[in-house]
Amino acid sequence: MFCPDCKYEYRWGIEKCPDCGADLVERLPEPEPKVKEESKFTLLCTAQDLVHATLLKETLETNDIPCLVKSGGGVMTTLEPLSGYAKIYVPEEKYEESQKIIEQLEDDL
Ligand SMILES: [Zn+2]
Repeated sequence: MFCPDCKYEYRWGIEKCPDCGADLVERLPEPEPKVKEESKFTLLCTAQDLVHATLLKETLETNDIPCLVKSGGGVMTTLEPLSGYAKIYVPEEKYEESQKIIEQLEDDL
């Protein structure tokens, strides 16, 4: 059994985490799939807001380019409201391709 908050493993039969009181679960949710380690990511551009960042991300992914969106210290999720800006990272080998795609996108707006 695992505590979803502390990530500690406990003996079978224990139902609540002795540390935080959370209900234990049989298994922890799978961690987010990571982008392949081989690719080195490089900063493509900085989006001013979440809407723009999401648009860029979706456009790149439509073109089969994996990308990372980061704000502050962590990886942004669409569930978190974003203040300020977000940085869009793409694999180095896709950098030029990505740039053309976002240039085209800006032209369309
Ligand atoms: Zn706990």
